[in-house]
Amino acid sequence: MGTCVTCGNEYDGSFEVTTASGERHVFDSIECAAATIAPECVNCGTRILGHGVQNEQHIFCCAHCAGAYGVTGASDRVTSGS
Ligand SMILES: [Zn+2]
Ligand SMILES: [Zn+2]
Repeated sequence: MGTCVTCGNEYDGSFEVTTASGERHVFDSIECAAATIAPECVNCGTRILGHGVQNEQHIFCCAHCAGAYGVTGASDRVTSGS
């Protein structure tokens, strides 16, 4: 039993997530986890639930947003094999 840090729900199916920076959080759902720890696109503010597009300083939801923010040469990591 844990208490979700996002919404405060006590739930026996709660789970713990350790972020890349070593912070540990308890959540009752993937949605609450995303609301707290998913990064936001620097350009449009969308929560990034997949890999996103990164350069050294910023993370974006897609190559379009990276381009709109002025990052040149960004491309989505997942390609169709071409
Ligand atoms: Zn919650
Ligand atoms: Zn975006």
